[in-house]
Amino acid sequence: MQTPTHIVTGVIIQKAFEGKNRALSLTVIAVVAFLSHGFLDKLAQITYHPANPDFHSVFWVSYHLTLLATTIVFLCIWWRRYKWGIIFANLPDVDWIFIHGQEIFHFKIPFYRQPHLHHLLGYIYEKIPPFSWVTYYLDRLPNERHNPWACLWEVLIVAFLILVIRLMTMWKRPAPRAAAARK
Ligand SMILES: [Zn+2]
Repeated sequence: MQTPTHIVTGVIIQKAFEGKNRALSLTVIAVVAFLSHGFLDKLAQITYHPANPDFHSVFWVSYHLTLLATTIVFLCIWWRRYKWGIIFANLPDVDWIFIHGQEIFHFKIPFYRQPHLHHLLGYIYEKIPPFSWVTYYLDRLPNERHNPWACLWEVLIVAFLILVIRLMTMWKRPAPRAAAARK
């Protein structure tokens, strides 16, 4: 999926797993957020997600500029408070920074010619239950990677995840009466 989707997922995971034991909750947040990336990247096949950039397509360019702007806005809102969830939910995409970075700037890192983190996630989601069970269903979803209209799925998923964040925030905030009674 696209970066904004991974960001909101990271926020939800950090909200869900934050606890008193900082080391333990950070470990759980890191693992769950990292794994969430594999799930979302499999789900990405129902969304508009061509493998290669297409700078000649007006739609591709404007869609990706919108994604970039959304990423910046989301980071402004959530980075300070939820950076750990955000970092680990997006960490595997460091693969593309290394791989495309080498192509664009013409240098070579011999051990980073492959998307290692995505391969690791691929291995987990193909081979290890219960993840492989989920993959069984995800692989049956229609492939809409080249259909521009399928970007609406991404928008819908992000809208749904933002709703989840709002519900979690409302749920965690004590009701005004309970807060007053505690004073
Ligand atoms: Zn990815």
